[in-house]
Amino acid sequence: MTETFRAILISRDEAKRQSVDVVEMSPDDLMEGDVDVAVEATTVNYKDGLAITGRSPVVRRWPMIPGVDLAGTVVRSDHARWKPGDKVVLNGWGLGETHYGAYAGLARVKGDWLVALPERFTPREAMAIGTAGYTAMLSVLAIERAGLTPQDGPAVVSGASGGVGSVAVALLARRGWEVIAVTGRTSEADYLTGLGATQILDRAELAAPGKPLGKERWVAGIDAVGSHTLANVLASTRYGGLVAACGLAQGMDLPATVAPFILRGVSLIGIDSVMAPLDRREAAWRRLAEDLDAAVLSTIAADIGFDELIANAQAIVEGTIRGRVVAKLA
Ligand code: NDP
Repeated sequence: MTETFRAILISRDEAKRQSVDVVEMSPDDLMEGDVDVAVEATTVNYKDGLAITGRSPVVRRWPMIPGVDLAGTVVRSDHARWKPGDKVVLNGWGLGETHYGAYAGLARVKGDWLVALPERFTPREAMAIGTAGYTAMLSVLAIERAGLTPQDGPAVVSGASGGVGSVAVALLARRGWEVIAVTGRTSEADYLTGLGATQILDRAELAAPGKPLGKERWVAGIDAVGSHTLANVLASTRYGGLVAACGLAQGMDLPATVAPFILRGVSLIGIDSVMAPLDRREAAWRRLAEDLDAAVLSTIAADIGFDELIANAQAIVEGTIRGRVVAKLA
C-alpha cells in the first residue's frame, strides 16, 4: 500500500509543550497490528477532548493520533477472524492513548480488538453511538444484571445532555424506565424529553456538597459526572438500589460517606469501556442494535467533517456539545 492519508497528530516538544497538526501519512508510518481498517467514520468523545487539549494525561505515547472510536472496513488482515471487506467497529483498547487512533484515513490495529459492525448500523450510525453510547449500554446492562426493573422505581442519569447521558436516557426509556435527567442545560429539556426523560433536574441541585443521606428518589442511576454529583446521587438512591459510575465530567473525586451502602444496601458499580472483554462488548452492541432506532440516533447525532474534529474536541471539554458528533471520513 502506497497511498497516503490525512491524520491528526498530537506531538510534544522537549519542554513538553503540546501541538496538534493535520499531517499526511503513509501506511508505513502506522504502528504494529495484524489488521488494517479503512476508517469510514469516527466521533469525538470526552477523552478525545482531553487528549487534544492536553487537559488530562490521556496520551501516553508520543506522538499520537487521537480518536478512541472508529468504524470502517477491513482492507488487510493476518487475523483469523477478519478478512478484507468485513465491516467493523472499535472502541477503546488504548486507541488514541497508547496506540495510533481513529483520526486518520487508515488504522492498523489488533484484530482481537475488533467487533463486527451490527448489520443494522452504518459506520456513521455506529459512531453516533461510539464509546459514549456503548458505555451507556454497559451501564444499563449492569443495572439489569443486578435484577432491577422499571417496576422498582425511577432511574436517574447525570450529564444527561452529553454523549453518555443522551444515549443512557434513550436506552432506559426504551425499556420502560421512568427517567430523571440531570442537566445543567435546562434549555435542553425538550431534547431530553424527546429522548424519553420524564423529569428534568437542574444539576445545581446535585453539584454542591450534600448530606450523607437524602430523600429516596430513584432506584437506579447512571452517573457520567462523578464528584459531589455522584455522592448526592448515591445519597438519594432507594433501599437496595444501584448506581453505575462511568464518568468524571465534574471531577474525579468522590466526596461521599458509606451511609447509602451500610444503611440502604445501595451498590456502586464501576463501568469501564476501554478494557472491557469481547463478550461484554458484543453483548452491548447486540442490545444497542435492538434498542436504538434510527430516529433516536438522528436526534442525538450531529455531523461534522474531518476538519472540524479539533474544534469539536475543544468544545466537548467545555461542555458545549449536545449529544454526539460524527465525522464521516469516507
Ligand atoms: P460529554 O461532554 O458529551 O458529556 C458530559 C456531560 O456532563 C456534559 O454534557 C454536561 O451535561 C455534564 N457536565 C459537564 N461538566 C460538568 C460539571 N462541571 N458538573 C456537572 N456536570 C457536568 O462527555 P461524554 O458523555 O462523552 O462522557 C461523559 C463522561 O464519561 C466523561 O467524564 C468521560 O470521560 C466518561 N466516559 C467514561 C467511559 C468509561 O469507559 N468509563 C467511556 C466514555 C466516557 P449537562 O450539560 O446535561 O449537565
